[in-house]
Amino acid sequence: MASSVTVRAPSSTANLGPGFDVFGLALDAFFDEITITKKGKGIRIITSDSIPVVPKKNTAGVVVTELANKFKIKDGIEVKIKKGVPAGFGVGSSAASASAAVVAMNRLFQLDLDNNSLVKFAGAGEKASVGSIHYDNVAASVLGGFVIVRTNPLDVIRIEPPSDLVLCIAIPDLKVPAKKTEVSRSVVPKIIKLADGIANLSNAAAIVAGFMKKDPILIGKSVKDVIVEPVRQHMIPGFKQVKENALDAGANGVTISGAGPSVIAFTTKSSNQKKICAAMKRGFASSNTNCQTIICRPCKGAIDL
Ligand code: ADP
Repeated sequence: MASSVTVRAPSSTANLGPGFDVFGLALDAFFDEITITKKGKGIRIITSDSIPVVPKKNTAGVVVTELANKFKIKDGIEVKIKKGVPAGFGVGSSAASASAAVVAMNRLFQLDLDNNSLVKFAGAGEKASVGSIHYDNVAASVLGGFVIVRTNPLDVIRIEPPSDLVLCIAIPDLKVPAKKTEVSRSVVPKIIKLADGIANLSNAAAIVAGFMKKDPILIGKSVKDVIVEPVRQHMIPGFKQVKENALDAGANGVTISGAGPSVIAFTTKSSNQKKICAAMKRGFASSNTNCQTIICRPCKGAIDL
């Protein structure tokens, strides 16, 4: 049996507008790489990136600890983390580490976990960063493609995205507060108006139809959220302008990526992505904020190298 396994897991965007805590999409913008080795005693995290190294505070560390306990693994485990996904920007950084860790542990210790179990353990890891379990980013990062998360019991449905769906992400150069996700979750209303529920449900259903029909325009045009985006947008300086500019430049839909502050525009292969990125950059600049823009595609989930 191998004594070391390396897994690469992708970034992801959660929600896609109306699918709060339900939809996720794996993106080839960034990747985390994790090497898990049977070595020494206990669980040890090695990284040169600025993330917690105490296992119970690191999403990969929590995954490894939970699996070691559950499967009564006695070996010492070294977890080497090479971050590629920027942390705290709403592109699934903590989820990528959790996802790479669960797939690496599954392979190294031949745990034979099915897809839902992989997602469940990765989700438990996410709790280390967010404080509450949500599976949208980890489901996308583990399984790849577009995912729909059902809970009680956990059941993830994966759909292969259309090959001509292209995303533009603008990542603003902002100092992200440590508890960003918790803060941005706290503003989400607990009770919603029926009319808003209907609007989001119709758009969420249309997004699923868009993925099933391999129609990137239907997907983009349905990325409309009247519940969460309106209460979160004020946390992102220039959001309204970024969105308006991207739509004017030809994007089919624009929303907050996960809990933000990144903004994601949905386009197709034939759109002018460079123009859309420049338009988003101008939008952030109007609020004196720099941003990095990335053109990316949906991608496969975590794979061992
Ligand atoms: P993101 O959308 O990038 O995952 P979150 O706010 O959910 O943003 O998570 C980032 C937070 O999680 C940071 O405070 C970071 O210190 C913490 N964290 C814990 N473990 C990791 C990890 N392995 N990779 C990235 N962030 C981690």
